[in-house]
Amino acid sequence: MYSLSYVKAKSVKEAGEFLAAHPEAKLLAGGMTLVPTLKQRLAKPSHLVDIAQLPELRGVKVAGGKLEIGAATSHHDVATSPVVKKAIPALAELAGLIGDPQVRNLGTLGGSVANNDPAADYPAAVLGLGATVVTSQREIAADDFFQGMFATALEEGEIIVRIIFPVPRRAAYAKFHHPASGYAMAGVFVAQTAEGVRVAVTGAGPGVFRWKAAEAALAKGLKPAAIDGVVLEAADLNEGIHATREDRANLVRVMAKRALAKLPRKK
Ligand SMILES: Cc1cc2nc3c(=O)[nH]c(=O)nc-3n(C[C@H](O)[C@H](O)[C@H](O)COP(=O)(O)OP(=O)(O)OC[C@H]3O[C@@H](n4cnc5c(N)ncnc54)[C@H](O)[C@@H]3O)c2cc1C
Repeated sequence: MYSLSYVKAKSVKEAGEFLAAHPEAKLLAGGMTLVPTLKQRLAKPSHLVDIAQLPELRGVKVAGGKLEIGAATSHHDVATSPVVKKAIPALAELAGLIGDPQVRNLGTLGGSVANNDPAADYPAAVLGLGATVVTSQREIAADDFFQGMFATALEEGEIIVRIIFPVPRRAAYAKFHHPASGYAMAGVFVAQTAEGVRVAVTGAGPGVFRWKAAEAALAKGLKPAAIDGVVLEAADLNEGIHATREDRANLVRVMAKRALAKLPRKK
Protein backbone atom coordinates (compact mmCIF):
# COMPACT_ATOMS: atom_id res chain seq x y z
CA MET A 1 0.00 0.00 0.00
CA TYR A 2 1.30 3.47 -0.87
CA SER A 3 1.17 6.09 1.87
CA LEU A 4 -1.82 8.42 1.75
CA SER A 5 -3.86 10.75 3.93
CA TYR A 6 -7.26 10.03 5.45
CA VAL A 7 -10.01 12.63 5.69
CA LYS A 8 -13.42 12.17 7.28
CA ALA A 9 -15.97 14.35 5.46
CA LYS A 10 -18.59 16.17 7.53
CA SER A 11 -21.05 16.51 4.63
CA VAL A 12 -21.49 15.58 0.96
CA LYS A 13 -20.80 19.22 0.11
CA GLU A 14 -17.51 19.16 2.00
CA ALA A 15 -16.53 15.85 0.37
CA GLY A 16 -17.30 17.30 -3.07
CA GLU A 17 -15.25 20.42 -2.39
CA PHE A 18 -12.34 18.32 -1.16
CA LEU A 19 -12.44 16.16 -4.28
CA ALA A 20 -12.50 19.26 -6.48
CA ALA A 21 -9.44 20.65 -4.69
CA HIS A 22 -7.58 17.32 -4.70
CA PRO A 23 -8.08 15.54 -8.04
CA GLU A 24 -6.08 12.49 -6.89
CA ALA A 25 -8.28 11.93 -3.81
CA LYS A 26 -10.79 9.06 -3.74
CA LEU A 27 -14.03 8.47 -1.90
CA LEU A 28 -14.07 5.70 0.70
CA ALA A 29 -17.37 4.05 1.60
CA GLY A 30 -17.28 0.46 2.90
CA GLY A 31 -13.73 -0.05 1.61
CA MET A 32 -14.58 -3.63 0.60
CA THR A 33 -13.34 -3.05 -2.94
CA LEU A 34 -11.11 -0.02 -2.53
CA VAL A 35 -8.98 -1.25 0.38
CA PRO A 36 -7.94 -4.53 -1.32
CA THR A 37 -7.13 -2.46 -4.43
CA LEU A 38 -4.88 -0.21 -2.35
CA LYS A 39 -3.25 -3.19 -0.64
CA GLN A 40 -2.34 -4.58 -4.06
CA ARG A 41 -0.92 -1.18 -5.06
CA LEU A 42 -3.36 -0.98 -7.96
CA ALA A 43 -4.39 2.55 -6.96
CA LYS A 44 -2.45 5.46 -5.56
CA PRO A 45 -4.86 8.14 -4.31
CA SER A 46 -3.48 11.17 -2.49
CA HIS A 47 -6.29 11.03 0.11
CA LEU A 48 -9.18 8.81 1.13
CA VAL A 49 -12.30 10.85 1.79
CA ASP A 50 -14.48 8.81 4.14
CA ILE A 51 -18.21 9.28 3.52
CA ALA A 52 -19.42 6.03 5.11
CA GLN A 53 -21.00 7.56 8.22
CA LEU A 54 -22.62 10.64 6.72
CA PRO A 55 -26.26 10.66 7.90
CA GLU A 56 -27.39 12.31 4.65
CA LEU A 57 -26.11 9.23 2.74
CA ARG A 58 -27.73 6.60 4.94
CA GLY A 59 -31.20 5.22 5.36
CA VAL A 60 -34.21 3.87 3.57
CA LYS A 61 -37.62 5.44 2.97
CA VAL A 62 -40.61 5.28 0.66
CA ALA A 63 -41.58 8.64 -0.83
CA GLY A 64 -44.08 9.29 -3.62
CA GLY A 65 -44.51 5.56 -4.18
CA LYS A 66 -40.76 5.08 -4.74
CA LEU A 67 -38.13 3.46 -2.57
CA GLU A 68 -35.15 5.69 -1.78
CA ILE A 69 -31.94 4.23 -0.36
CA GLY A 70 -28.98 6.33 0.75
CA ALA A 71 -25.71 5.56 -0.99
CA ALA A 72 -23.84 4.67 2.20
CA THR A 73 -26.52 2.24 3.39
CA SER A 74 -24.90 -1.14 3.99
CA HIS A 75 -25.94 -4.30 2.20
CA HIS A 76 -26.96 -5.70 5.61
CA ASP A 77 -29.24 -2.74 6.31
CA VAL A 78 -30.92 -3.14 2.91
CA ALA A 79 -31.27 -6.92 3.35
CA THR A 80 -32.90 -6.60 6.78
CA SER A 81 -34.94 -3.41 6.29
CA PRO A 82 -38.68 -3.99 6.82
CA VAL A 83 -39.31 -1.04 4.48
CA VAL A 84 -37.31 -2.65 1.63
CA LYS A 85 -38.80 -6.08 2.32
CA LYS A 86 -42.30 -4.65 2.01
CA ALA A 87 -41.69 -2.39 -1.02
CA ILE A 88 -39.32 -4.54 -3.12
CA PRO A 89 -38.68 -7.90 -1.45
CA ALA A 90 -36.45 -9.01 -4.35
CA LEU A 91 -34.06 -6.14 -3.59
CA ALA A 92 -33.76 -7.13 0.07
CA GLU A 93 -33.15 -10.73 -1.01
CA LEU A 94 -30.46 -9.63 -3.50
CA ALA A 95 -28.64 -7.59 -0.83
CA GLY A 96 -28.65 -10.63 1.45
CA LEU A 97 -26.93 -12.70 -1.27
CA ILE A 98 -23.91 -10.38 -1.53
CA GLY A 99 -20.60 -11.82 -0.29
CA ASP A 100 -20.47 -12.79 3.38
CA PRO A 101 -21.57 -11.12 6.65
CA GLN A 102 -18.40 -9.00 6.88
CA VAL A 103 -18.85 -7.70 3.33
CA ARG A 104 -22.56 -7.07 3.91
CA ASN A 105 -21.92 -5.12 7.11
CA LEU A 106 -19.38 -2.75 5.56
CA GLY A 107 -20.12 -2.71 1.82
CA THR A 108 -22.54 -0.06 0.59
CA LEU A 109 -25.07 0.39 -2.19
CA GLY A 110 -23.31 3.48 -3.57
CA GLY A 111 -19.88 1.86 -3.47
CA SER A 112 -21.13 -1.16 -5.36
CA VAL A 113 -22.94 0.85 -8.02
CA ALA A 114 -20.06 3.33 -8.45
CA ASN A 115 -17.60 0.47 -8.79
CA ASN A 116 -19.82 -1.36 -11.32
CA ASP A 117 -18.01 -4.67 -11.09
CA PRO A 118 -19.33 -6.79 -13.98
CA ALA A 119 -20.21 -9.55 -11.50
CA ALA A 120 -21.82 -7.36 -8.82
CA ASP A 121 -25.42 -7.87 -7.80
CA TYR A 122 -26.82 -4.36 -7.24
CA PRO A 123 -26.30 -3.18 -10.85
CA ALA A 124 -28.79 -5.88 -11.92
CA ALA A 125 -31.44 -4.49 -9.57
CA VAL A 126 -30.73 -0.85 -10.43
CA LEU A 127 -30.98 -1.59 -14.16
CA GLY A 128 -33.76 -4.17 -13.84
CA LEU A 129 -35.96 -1.80 -11.87
CA GLY A 130 -35.18 1.23 -14.04
CA ALA A 131 -33.91 3.12 -10.98
CA THR A 132 -32.51 6.65 -10.87
CA VAL A 133 -29.04 7.36 -9.50
CA VAL A 134 -29.08 10.69 -7.68
CA THR A 135 -25.65 12.28 -7.40
CA SER A 136 -24.21 15.43 -5.88
CA GLN A 137 -24.76 17.04 -9.29
CA ARG A 138 -27.70 15.47 -11.16
CA GLU A 139 -30.04 12.52 -11.65
CA ILE A 140 -28.96 9.68 -13.97
CA ALA A 141 -31.31 7.02 -15.33
CA ALA A 142 -30.05 3.47 -14.85
CA ASP A 143 -30.14 2.92 -18.63
CA ASP A 144 -27.56 5.70 -19.01
CA PHE A 145 -25.54 5.00 -15.87
CA PHE A 146 -23.83 1.65 -16.54
CA GLN A 147 -21.31 1.91 -19.36
CA GLY A 148 -19.44 -1.40 -19.35
CA MET A 149 -16.79 -3.03 -17.19
CA PHE A 150 -16.12 -0.81 -14.11
CA ALA A 151 -17.34 2.15 -16.18
CA THR A 152 -20.23 4.45 -15.26
CA ALA A 153 -21.60 7.85 -16.21
CA LEU A 154 -20.09 9.37 -13.03
CA GLU A 155 -17.79 12.34 -13.66
CA GLU A 156 -14.66 13.06 -11.61
CA GLY A 157 -15.67 14.14 -8.12
CA GLU A 158 -19.34 13.21 -8.55
CA ILE A 159 -20.81 11.52 -5.48
CA ILE A 160 -23.76 9.12 -5.49
CA VAL A 161 -26.15 10.41 -2.82
CA ARG A 162 -29.06 7.99 -3.11
CA ILE A 163 -30.79 5.65 -5.51
CA ILE A 164 -34.51 5.89 -6.20
CA PHE A 165 -36.21 2.63 -7.13
CA PRO A 166 -39.70 2.68 -8.65
CA VAL A 167 -41.73 0.02 -6.84
CA PRO A 168 -42.51 -2.70 -9.42
CA ARG A 169 -45.69 -4.75 -9.61
CA ARG A 170 -43.46 -7.72 -8.89
CA ALA A 171 -39.81 -8.65 -9.20
CA ALA A 172 -37.41 -11.50 -8.51
CA TYR A 173 -33.66 -12.15 -8.61
CA ALA A 174 -31.83 -15.42 -9.16
CA LYS A 175 -28.06 -15.77 -8.85
CA PHE A 176 -25.57 -18.53 -9.54
CA HIS A 177 -22.73 -17.48 -7.29
CA HIS A 178 -19.07 -18.22 -7.52
CA PRO A 179 -18.43 -20.57 -4.59
CA ALA A 180 -15.26 -18.76 -3.43
CA SER A 181 -16.02 -15.06 -3.91
CA GLY A 182 -19.80 -15.06 -3.76
CA TYR A 183 -19.95 -12.83 -6.83
CA ALA A 184 -22.43 -13.68 -9.59
CA MET A 185 -21.31 -15.99 -12.37
CA ALA A 186 -24.76 -15.18 -13.69
CA GLY A 187 -27.48 -13.19 -11.97
CA VAL A 188 -30.80 -12.22 -13.50
CA PHE A 189 -33.21 -9.62 -12.16
CA VAL A 190 -36.72 -9.69 -13.63
CA ALA A 191 -39.20 -6.91 -12.92
CA GLN A 192 -42.74 -6.27 -14.05
CA THR A 193 -42.95 -2.49 -13.95
CA ALA A 194 -45.61 0.03 -14.93
CA GLU A 195 -43.75 0.48 -18.25
CA GLY A 196 -43.34 -3.23 -19.00
CA VAL A 197 -41.05 -6.15 -18.26
CA ARG A 198 -37.33 -5.55 -17.66
CA VAL A 199 -34.67 -8.26 -17.51
CA ALA A 200 -31.17 -7.29 -16.33
CA VAL A 201 -28.22 -9.67 -16.40
CA THR A 202 -25.04 -9.44 -14.33
CA GLY A 203 -21.97 -11.67 -14.06
CA ALA A 204 -22.14 -13.08 -17.56
CA GLY A 205 -20.87 -10.28 -19.75
CA PRO A 206 -18.37 -7.42 -19.61
CA GLY A 207 -20.98 -5.38 -17.73
CA VAL A 208 -24.58 -5.49 -16.62
CA PHE A 209 -27.00 -5.48 -19.57
CA ARG A 210 -30.67 -5.77 -20.42
CA TRP A 211 -31.70 -8.94 -22.23
CA LYS A 212 -34.12 -7.16 -24.53
CA ALA A 213 -35.12 -10.22 -26.57
CA ALA A 214 -36.29 -11.88 -23.35
CA GLU A 215 -38.17 -8.72 -22.33
CA ALA A 216 -40.02 -8.78 -25.68
CA ALA A 217 -40.89 -12.47 -25.29
CA LEU A 218 -42.06 -11.99 -21.70
CA ALA A 219 -44.31 -9.07 -22.65
CA LYS A 220 -46.71 -11.74 -23.95
CA GLY A 221 -46.69 -13.65 -20.64
CA LEU A 222 -44.40 -13.86 -17.62
CA LYS A 223 -43.79 -17.59 -17.74
CA PRO A 224 -40.43 -19.41 -17.66
CA ALA A 225 -41.31 -21.25 -20.91
CA ALA A 226 -41.64 -17.90 -22.74
CA ILE A 227 -37.84 -17.58 -22.99
CA ASP A 228 -37.19 -21.13 -24.24
CA GLY A 229 -36.37 -20.18 -27.79
CA VAL A 230 -35.08 -16.68 -27.10
CA VAL A 231 -31.56 -16.05 -28.36
CA LEU A 232 -28.78 -14.88 -26.05
CA GLU A 233 -25.68 -14.30 -28.13
CA ALA A 234 -22.87 -16.31 -26.42
CA ALA A 235 -20.19 -14.44 -28.39
CA ASP A 236 -20.91 -11.35 -26.27
CA LEU A 237 -20.40 -13.16 -22.95
CA ASN A 238 -17.34 -13.77 -20.76
CA GLU A 239 -15.05 -16.74 -21.26
CA GLY A 240 -12.84 -17.92 -18.41
CA ILE A 241 -11.54 -20.76 -16.29
CA HIS A 242 -14.90 -21.11 -14.54
CA ALA A 243 -17.20 -21.23 -17.55
CA THR A 244 -17.20 -21.07 -21.32
CA ARG A 245 -19.34 -18.50 -23.12
CA GLU A 246 -21.89 -21.21 -23.90
CA ASP A 247 -21.99 -22.24 -20.21
CA ARG A 248 -22.67 -18.64 -19.25
CA ALA A 249 -25.44 -18.30 -21.82
CA ASN A 250 -27.02 -21.44 -20.40
CA LEU A 251 -26.60 -20.15 -16.82
CA VAL A 252 -28.30 -16.87 -17.74
CA ARG A 253 -31.27 -18.73 -19.20
CA VAL A 254 -31.52 -20.99 -16.15
CA MET A 255 -31.27 -18.02 -13.74
CA ALA A 256 -33.87 -16.10 -15.75
CA LYS A 257 -36.22 -19.07 -15.51
CA ARG A 258 -35.61 -19.37 -11.78
CA ALA A 259 -36.33 -15.68 -11.30
CA LEU A 260 -39.52 -15.99 -13.34
CA ALA A 261 -40.61 -19.07 -11.40
CA LYS A 262 -40.26 -17.26 -8.09
CA LEU A 263 -42.02 -14.05 -9.08
CA PRO A 264 -44.65 -13.32 -6.44
CA ARG A 265 -48.26 -13.71 -7.51
CA LYS A 266 -49.90 -10.60 -8.96
CA LYS A 267 -51.20 -8.20 -6.27
C1 LIG B 1 -14.84 -11.15 -0.27
C2 LIG B 1 -15.77 -10.25 -1.03
C3 LIG B 1 -16.90 -10.78 -1.61
C4 LIG B 1 -17.78 -9.96 -2.32
N1 LIG B 1 -18.88 -10.52 -2.88
C5 LIG B 1 -19.73 -9.74 -3.57
C6 LIG B 1 -20.92 -10.28 -4.15
O1 LIG B 1 -21.23 -11.47 -4.02
N2 LIG B 1 -21.72 -9.45 -4.85
C7 LIG B 1 -21.45 -8.11 -4.99
O2 LIG B 1 -22.23 -7.39 -5.62
N3 LIG B 1 -20.35 -7.56 -4.43
C8 LIG B 1 -19.49 -8.34 -3.73
N4 LIG B 1 -18.41 -7.77 -3.14
C9 LIG B 1 -18.18 -6.30 -3.30
C10 LIG B 1 -18.91 -5.56 -2.20
O3 LIG B 1 -20.28 -5.54 -2.46
C11 LIG B 1 -18.41 -4.12 -2.04
O4 LIG B 1 -18.98 -3.67 -0.88
C12 LIG B 1 -18.75 -3.13 -3.15
O5 LIG B 1 -18.30 -3.50 -4.40
C13 LIG B 1 -18.09 -1.79 -2.93
O6 LIG B 1 -18.76 -1.13 -1.90
P1 LIG B 1 -17.98 -0.36 -0.80
O7 LIG B 1 -19.01 0.41 -0.05
O8 LIG B 1 -17.12 -1.29 -0.01
O9 LIG B 1 -17.09 0.67 -1.66
P2 LIG B 1 -15.57 1.10 -1.55
O10 LIG B 1 -14.69 -0.10 -1.65
O11 LIG B 1 -15.37 2.01 -0.39
O12 LIG B 1 -15.48 1.98 -2.88
C14 LIG B 1 -15.57 1.37 -4.15
C15 LIG B 1 -15.44 2.46 -5.23
O13 LIG B 1 -16.60 3.27 -5.24
C16 LIG B 1 -16.30 4.63 -4.98
N5 LIG B 1 -17.40 5.14 -4.18
C17 LIG B 1 -17.81 4.67 -2.98
N6 LIG B 1 -18.92 5.31 -2.59
C18 LIG B 1 -19.22 6.19 -3.56
C19 LIG B 1 -20.29 7.14 -3.72
N7 LIG B 1 -21.27 7.31 -2.83
N8 LIG B 1 -20.29 7.89 -4.85
C20 LIG B 1 -19.33 7.74 -5.80
N9 LIG B 1 -18.30 6.86 -5.70
C21 LIG B 1 -18.26 6.09 -4.58
C22 LIG B 1 -14.95 4.61 -4.29
O14 LIG B 1 -14.20 5.81 -4.48
C23 LIG B 1 -14.28 3.43 -4.98
O15 LIG B 1 -13.76 3.82 -6.23
C24 LIG B 1 -17.51 -8.57 -2.43
C25 LIG B 1 -16.37 -8.02 -1.84
C26 LIG B 1 -15.51 -8.84 -1.13
C27 LIG B 1 -14.30 -8.23 -0.49
